[in-house]
Amino acid sequence: MQSALKALLHFIYPDICVQCERPLVSSEKYLCVYCEEDLPRTRFRSMQSNPVTDIFYGRVPLLYADAFCYFKKNSAVQRLMHQLKYKHQPGVGLYLGRYMGFQLLTRPWHELPDYLIPVPIHEKKRLVRGYNQAEEIARGIHMVCETPLTYNVLQRQSNTGSQTKLSRWDRWKNVETGFQAQFIDKLPPCAHVLLVDDVITTGATLEACAGVLLNHRPDLRISIMSAAIASE
Ligand SMILES: [Zn+2]
Repeated sequence: MQSALKALLHFIYPDICVQCERPLVSSEKYLCVYCEEDLPRTRFRSMQSNPVTDIFYGRVPLLYADAFCYFKKNSAVQRLMHQLKYKHQPGVGLYLGRYMGFQLLTRPWHELPDYLIPVPIHEKKRLVRGYNQAEEIARGIHMVCETPLTYNVLQRQSNTGSQTKLSRWDRWKNVETGFQAQFIDKLPPCAHVLLVDDVITTGATLEACAGVLLNHRPDLRISIMSAAIASE
């Protein structure tokens, strides 16, 4: 009965594609099949060295680094991120995370991580948004790869506020002191952890997270994956 009602509601008020605003059929979510096909996928998974690894080269030792899509202005990715961060749509995180999970499963060279560690957001931001978008993305990856998700290994110490007006160096300094690790001794020796984030721009946040983890546990092997990487 409930599913019949749902189908009727969908018929009367269909969800629309966040990109082209075409009404979605019941098998589609957030994007119609055409816009989903047009997502600017990076296809880095078969590249050992790629624009994400280039960002972190010489900054932090990584097993691998990857991103699902390019973050382009007015693209479907930008609209999905807007829904995820500002329109209370945590399901978008699961949606993107599932694609990332399949991308991880089909990487030709590297092992799957032992644990997923989402980049934390400040508690005040979580209260306003209702969730941590990186955690929702990591949950999507978990649904596909079954890799366990850790919720409290990394914590954000203080609200660093809007960082868009800071220089890269100031931003780095700002986030460097913004994270702390806890319960990290519970991770097994030489565990391979995947840091998960929504968008990589300068890489400063992820570099700071990896730095904090390695300061406490130099034996950890770290990889990075984001839903998107900024591109001009
Ligand atoms: Zn569309």
